[in-house]
Amino acid sequence: MSTVRTRFAPSPTGYMHIGGMRTALFNWLWARHNGGQFILRIDDTDQERNLSEALGPILQAFKWLGLDWDEGPEVGGSHGPYFQSERNDLYRGAVDKLLAAGKAYRDYDTPEQIQADREATSQEKKNYLNIRRSLELTESELEQYAAEGRPSVVRLLVPRDQKIQIDDAVRGRVEFDAGLMPDPVILRGNGTPLYNLATVIDDAQMQISHVIRAEEHLSNTPVQVLIYQALGYELPQFAHIPFVAAPGGKEKLGKRKLDKYRKSPQFKKMFDKAEAVFPRIGLENAGGLDPVMVEYYEKIGYLPEAILNSLARLGWSLDDKTEFMSLETIVENFTLDRIVKAAAGLDPDKLLNFQSHWMNQLSLEEKIEHCSPYLEKAGLVEDASQPEVKERISRVIVGMEDRLKVASDILEFDEFFVADDQLEYDDKAFKKRIQKSEEAVALLEKFKGQLAQADDFSASALDQLLHEFVEAEGIGMGQIIHALRVAVSGKGTGIGMFDCLSILGKESCLRRIDRAIGLTQNV
Ligand code: GLU
Repeated sequence: MSTVRTRFAPSPTGYMHIGGMRTALFNWLWARHNGGQFILRIDDTDQERNLSEALGPILQAFKWLGLDWDEGPEVGGSHGPYFQSERNDLYRGAVDKLLAAGKAYRDYDTPEQIQADREATSQEKKNYLNIRRSLELTESELEQYAAEGRPSVVRLLVPRDQKIQIDDAVRGRVEFDAGLMPDPVILRGNGTPLYNLATVIDDAQMQISHVIRAEEHLSNTPVQVLIYQALGYELPQFAHIPFVAAPGGKEKLGKRKLDKYRKSPQFKKMFDKAEAVFPRIGLENAGGLDPVMVEYYEKIGYLPEAILNSLARLGWSLDDKTEFMSLETIVENFTLDRIVKAAAGLDPDKLLNFQSHWMNQLSLEEKIEHCSPYLEKAGLVEDASQPEVKERISRVIVGMEDRLKVASDILEFDEFFVADDQLEYDDKAFKKRIQKSEEAVALLEKFKGQLAQADDFSASALDQLLHEFVEAEGIGMGQIIHALRVAVSGKGTGIGMFDCLSILGKESCLRRIDRAIGLTQNV
């Protein structure tokens, strides 16, 4: 087999779509699996916005996930340029060749004429095909039109007697009848190429062996095949992969449905998370990020391993059971025949499962590294590398156990990082556990005395201390432990009680208990 060369050709939109990332990943995987090359080509022919702004987040998504490209922006390569906007000469050259060979024609029909033709055929309940009036023009008429600068487009002359067969690696054999296809425009009046033309020229000239792309392009493929044939290029292997669907739905995941997603039970948690985390790390209005964008996952603290694993599993499987796979394993096993034909739905819960799995593979040191920037950005610690700060972060992470899923989860444990007099008490928990219970307040006061005398503030010593206290008082553990938790952490739930006390340290615990008791008297 000749060298496998795949490509991903994003239009710079200012963000990287998570479904598009899955397409890119499949291309990357297939290239790497075969020791081939992966090319990034920028489809910027219709670019209106600032290119570097629109492209930046796309390149960043690749970099974050560690998906390198062998040719393309920033790295160059011998098949460039890699921006379609810089390849106009190539497209024009190909169009000239097609015109000279009579495989394309300059069409002077006006849009009104074409519209009228379409209406006429639809009244006759016939399939519309171009009338091809311009093919009847004489040399001198053509010269005159050109001299007048009369508007025209270039159309491919569809060979109407042909059946087009595409042997798609995912969908099998797909057939189209060229006899039903209108002549597609390949060059606009202003001289810019259409997607189908530019794509074929680029794929052929860049020697792309496999075109792996979203199934919505399957309907473009017969046109592209005709262009390949008209130019005498060899066809690549096509593989049209199913789209990534919205959670719980059957429709394509897309930005336009964000309002609906916000209310969907599956997606809601992701939006809530964004609302809770992003403002705290300085991203107002959630930084304009939502779960359709790869950047959302990066900023909220997912791991590349988790995103890659779950994207790979969206529409591809190693076997019937394996869920957790490193990128290395996926590269080793990735084949096109194991891509599924049905649309795969993005599942936020599953994604979190993958994330949890990969988070648990990290060493404590690595977890600290991932979580620290969140504490710093939220202003909860000034310098996470200070030994005593780092020690505290480390102990909190250990205490969080499985509750640490995404790195920003550490912000939910801010009680360990705020000053004692800044600790906020959860209203409901405070009322229920402390304010409404005279007994709890009295017990807190009493236990505080014990804490004050404790020499050993390790979790196990505190465990023993509280058990002895409970026994001596003849009370149940439940009568004090909830009040104690709320008093020192401000919250009704959290990490293990004794770890919590131990991490906070004696002085903080005493001050916080005092403050909690004091607050009951103020209201
Ligand atoms: N720029 C096109 C897109 O984003 C590329 C399609 C293709 O891969 O041929 O849909």
